[in-house]
Amino acid sequence: MVFVLKENKGLVLEVNDKVFSFDSVHSNSTHAFIGHAHSDHLIKKKTGVPVLLSTETKELIKAKCKKGDNGINYVEELDNARLLDAGHVLGSKALLLELEGKKILYTGDFSTRDRLFMKGFKPVKADILIMETTFGKKEYVMPKFKEVAQESLDWVEDELKKGYNVMLLGYSLGKAQILCKLFEKLPYPIFVDNQIMKINSVYSDFGIELRGFTSIRDAKERGYLSYPSIMILPPHMVKYYWTPETKTAFFTGWANTGYPNKKIMNYDKTFSMSDHADYNELIQVVKKVNPEIVYTIHGFNREFAKDLRTLGYNAKPIVAGQTKIEDF
Ligand SMILES: [Zn+2]
Repeated sequence: MVFVLKENKGLVLEVNDKVFSFDSVHSNSTHAFIGHAHSDHLIKKKTGVPVLLSTETKELIKAKCKKGDNGINYVEELDNARLLDAGHVLGSKALLLELEGKKILYTGDFSTRDRLFMKGFKPVKADILIMETTFGKKEYVMPKFKEVAQESLDWVEDELKKGYNVMLLGYSLGKAQILCKLFEKLPYPIFVDNQIMKINSVYSDFGIELRGFTSIRDAKERGYLSYPSIMILPPHMVKYYWTPETKTAFFTGWANTGYPNKKIMNYDKTFSMSDHADYNELIQVVKKVNPEIVYTIHGFNREFAKDLRTLGYNAKPIVAGQTKIEDF
């Protein structure tokens, strides 16, 4: 049996006559899988290929895309495939495939830590592990969620009491909903971006109650944007609502070191909070899966594979455009 793994606009796994695309679809794909609804993974073109995903991801895609689900052949079950909660955002899944007597686990983006309503990914045993390694470098170890949550609550409350507005920045899907839930306990109005409103309503439909937030755009246009208030926005929207009476805080796993090759600039505060696993959690996942071989993708995948080899694992990074062939 020969596996061919490629990373070329998404990951492709060829096993005999089957071609699985992960978080992408290609002209020769026989099956595709979308782990979650972040836009870098969404399938743009119409395709007859069955695309495996969760119900939540399907609804999030509909809410995010103007064209709805784009007529894609979505399926929620596939032979020899099991979906596992990946703990990254609502509906995010890892994929466990059983092919030719081998268990193949593809994590997609994942987090093993519990964060409010999000429950962490619970890895299972597999022969081959294909994992995301965004924070695959030793310096990316994050504090406990509860500690960061409390630290940020204290800071926000403090700034509000001083009379400042507070802008809390993070991805529209995933981080924004954690922030909405975390800060709704403070006795101040919360205004959010319209995209976040749409996503919140899908979360509510699936039992995570996030209704009751106000559209910042409507509030500004109609003159009822009150101060001091909390604004939860994606970072690119700062410029539309920032005033000299505003304090900004960015919530990201890159908080301690800045984005690779880029500095996190111009924010009053950064908080180390991520929807991805940190370095130690990545190592723990490998230990629990205990695979014969690990393939690493995204972020510090070369560095992480090297560290795994030092620990005695057979590990290889998957690099864009490269093909890896393994015989079993
Ligand atoms: Zn993601």
